Amino acid sequence: MAEVKSDIEIARAAKKKPIMEIGAKLGIPAEHLLPYGHDKAKISAAFIAEQKGRKDGRLILVTAINPTPAGEGKTTTTVGLGDGLNRIGKKAVVCIREASLGPCFGVKGGAAGGGYAQVIPMEDMNLHFTGDFHAITSAHNLLAALIDNHIYWGNEQNIDIRRVAWRRVMDMNDRALRQIVGSLGGVANGYPRETGFDITVASEVMAILCLSTDLKDLEKRLGNIIIAYRRDKTPVFARDIKADGAMTVLLKDAMQPNLVQTLENNPAFVHGGPFANIAHGCNSVVATTTALKLADYVVTEAGFGADLGAEKFFDIKCRKAGLKPDAAVIVATARAMKMNGGVKKEDLGKENVEAVRKGCANLGRHVLNVKKFGVPVVVAINHFIADTEAEIQAVKDYVATLGAEAILCRHWAQGSAGIEELAHKVVELAESGKSQFSPLYPDDMPLFEKIETIAKSIYHAGEVIADKSVRDQLRTWEEQGYGTLPICMAKTQYSFSTDPNLRGAPTGHTVPVREVRLSAGAGFVVVITGEIMTMPGLPRVPSSEKIFLNDEGFIEGLF
Ligand code: ADP
Ligand code: MG
Repeated sequence: MAEVKSDIEIARAAKKKPIMEIGAKLGIPAEHLLPYGHDKAKISAAFIAEQKGRKDGRLILVTAINPTPAGEGKTTTTVGLGDGLNRIGKKAVVCIREASLGPCFGVKGGAAGGGYAQVIPMEDMNLHFTGDFHAITSAHNLLAALIDNHIYWGNEQNIDIRRVAWRRVMDMNDRALRQIVGSLGGVANGYPRETGFDITVASEVMAILCLSTDLKDLEKRLGNIIIAYRRDKTPVFARDIKADGAMTVLLKDAMQPNLVQTLENNPAFVHGGPFANIAHGCNSVVATTTALKLADYVVTEAGFGADLGAEKFFDIKCRKAGLKPDAAVIVATARAMKMNGGVKKEDLGKENVEAVRKGCANLGRHVLNVKKFGVPVVVAINHFIADTEAEIQAVKDYVATLGAEAILCRHWAQGSAGIEELAHKVVELAESGKSQFSPLYPDDMPLFEKIETIAKSIYHAGEVIADKSVRDQLRTWEEQGYGTLPICMAKTQYSFSTDPNLRGAPTGHTVPVREVRLSAGAGFVVVITGEIMTMPGLPRVPSSEKIFLNDEGFIEGLF
């Protein structure tokens, strides 16, 4: 067997085109591309505003089964499908999230796709890129500094310093900073209080940037952030301490989508990267809506499995941005089916058709769930080298019983040539006019009923339980005018239930709501059903130990 090249080796060997040429493919004039070097550019706000009246292309969502340690390949399939659509003559753009710096040095696994379906320059994308996350970090921490400063100079807003809701952020995995006491060291340093750091992708500023339609909308949402509560429990907003204007200034460039290219020189927008648990986990609305104006097809990815990612894409992003997806691709692998069917990771190399069949229940649930949103579905079987024909056939046969089709895709090994069949199928579904997209629940449903609707309809849970304090909190928000907001579920990505070890398609389980949080700027109510980590740590042997610059100045060890 030929030697398998690493993602970074493949990326480095790519024949990149100047970014101006990639922009020209989409009709973006050079003066509206703001270059960051030769292979990355931001698209000007003026150009984006000019596209308003144009017709939209077709929107395709790539989502997946519940992730297993076997790996599914949503980003790889998103990039591959973008190239596949271009190959069959459609003008297609890929829209994906930017990568967080912290995890790059922790556990191996980049965010630019893999094999022959990647976005380049992958090194930049996985490191500082165009500085968007640094800008978000700065804007977030400016607000944090302004809060402590406001308290220091007399606390005109009567902020209860025990109830400051705004922490600080950093784009690094650093467990030492999860809980800290700030303002130690005497009178001149302010009022000591407990606080802590989250990773930048968990910042509400990130979610806001990704849901804002333009700079005006961004400023309004930043002003709506709840930073603290007073002793009488009334909220204090970022606008109350006049933080919104300066934060918007810091985010001015970060708000513009980044244009890069795939290995096959097709355009890709890489913009924004909110967490998929306490936030909605999709790339920015500005990138997606702009891409829709410039291309026939836009292929975009939602984080985690379809129970979280697709649900939030539909119920938060599409609802808020008025997007109408035309088709959805659910990525599955024979390996993941085997794991769902009870096979251990070390035994994945052995054929086990029976386990594949058994594990398909998880895939089936996702297929039927996505159809509940009125969006037509096709399953992409992301081919891994050790898959056998019988295993693949078992997945295809199963999906056929659901009235859908599963198509084998070899984009990881072959690029666009390996995913033509899926591209044709996606075009057929999208152009059939079959999509009747509608969100799962209406805006005016009470908040707790929205949670129950998601839990029962998508997770197949029997009931949702919550303490009186949680229910009272939801009622208070309804009285304050937040009742029409959508729900952002924070649940384990590994199961339909709240138990990460419960694979397959469980029914009748209980969803306990531990806590609810209001992201008033982003515009959703976060519902926490388990342990949610907003500042990751590094593993015993972090991948940073293998990352270095070689004698030619190239990065080694980054995937
Ligand atoms: P996701 O977006 O679902 O998290 P990615 O597309 O980022 O997954 O893929 C995760 C990892 O798995 C990447 O390193 C990628 O190279 C690898 N991968 C994806 N598809 C395949 C495949 N068919 N064969 C081997 N490795 C793959
Ligand atoms: Mg991904």
